[in-house]
Amino acid sequence: MSKHQELEDYRQQIRECVKCGTCRAHCPVFNQVQSETVVARGKVSLAEALLDDKIELDQRLISDISQCLACGRCVKDCPNQVPTDEIILALRRRIGREKGLTLFGRGISTVLQRPRLMNLLTRLGRAFSWLVFRKVPKGSGLRLRFPAPYITRDRTIPAIAPQAFRQRHPEFIAGDAEKPLVTFFTGCMINYMLPEIGDCVLTTLKGLGMNILIPRDQGCCGLPALCAGDGQGAARLADRNLEALTAHKADFIVTACASCHSGLTKHFRELGPDHAQLASKVMDIHMFLQQQGLAETLQQLPRQQNPRPVTYHVPCHLRQPGLKEAPQNLLAALPSVRLVEMKHADACCGLGGTFSVYHYDISKQLGSIKAEGIRDSGAEVVATACPGCMMQLQDTINHAGLPQQVCHVLELVAADLKKA
Ligand code: SF4
Ligand code: SF4
Repeated sequence: MSKHQELEDYRQQIRECVKCGTCRAHCPVFNQVQSETVVARGKVSLAEALLDDKIELDQRLISDISQCLACGRCVKDCPNQVPTDEIILALRRRIGREKGLTLFGRGISTVLQRPRLMNLLTRLGRAFSWLVFRKVPKGSGLRLRFPAPYITRDRTIPAIAPQAFRQRHPEFIAGDAEKPLVTFFTGCMINYMLPEIGDCVLTTLKGLGMNILIPRDQGCCGLPALCAGDGQGAARLADRNLEALTAHKADFIVTACASCHSGLTKHFRELGPDHAQLASKVMDIHMFLQQQGLAETLQQLPRQQNPRPVTYHVPCHLRQPGLKEAPQNLLAALPSVRLVEMKHADACCGLGGTFSVYHYDISKQLGSIKAEGIRDSGAEVVATACPGCMMQLQDTINHAGLPQQVCHVLELVAADLKKA
């Protein structure tokens, strides 16, 4: 089985942290908590002290290490490019191995590694949803009727779809013979909760004449397991996906989820040459569509009178140059859309994988910054490129009592393509 690096393997990079504190200005969690132990510099110091046997893995340390969104802002702005996000994940793996996973971490990692169990639980979830959840007004999600561990009653979560995306569609959809074969990696949220986004992916790919493959045996990208500290579980999922995604010789592998994109590129590459080769074929769908000339095609469609004001939230995992602009370029080209700016557009939504489960109070504070930007933008719709961000933005909007609709960029793209 493949394996991620140990904390020990980062010793040299840990030493390269010069404790300048630049990361303090960019860390969303530090901005809220103002504690040195939660900022990257503090966590790198904790890692060093742990490696030198100066401290032990106690509850305080475990809590500090859990306070990270894995957003990567500290790496981007670090003068020495210390891979603080990777060091923090290596610390979590060591915690998971030596102290065990949390109940939630163990639960999520176990379920996501077992597709049959996942299918059973989603069937049960559908059947008993009425008993456990109540609907939030305007069809914007569900809330628990009763208090439950890890999920508070005021948190909005999406409903489980009546039928999973991969059950709704054949494994192969033929396009034009001379066009590439594109594998669609659905990710768990699109498969089980938001299959309509997957439908929009198919609409856009079919519109371009692509041959489409939706491998049945694909699984979770592994990022939730990795963030929970289950390195072995994440590596097992990566090995399974490697097998499923290389069974056919696809030209491209596309994702419509920023987190899955990070799981299948950055974290996949860490696992060896075969994984790195697969990662080189993975593309965010917006980037892929842009490279295929879709923005130009959309621009040629007749402009709609009174286009709707739409603003864009930048997911943390799509903040790199190119990836950041591609969804916005597609939005700007849509005949039914007037793209408007949002203050704090690339501020983290506050989800951060398991972070929002353990630190929902901080998550909501980050959400309130986002809500301010959404309110001031004057937009009717907040579009983004990550189903996880969509869930968090909907929760934020519900808490703030805002009227805006949250959607995936591809939902707007597919709607305009269907009208054309
Ligand atoms: S910015 Fe980089 S070098 Fe400076 S303290 Fe943070 S992690 Fe260390
Ligand atoms: S990854 Fe994000 S939340 Fe975590 S320490 Fe770095 S800046 Fe802070």
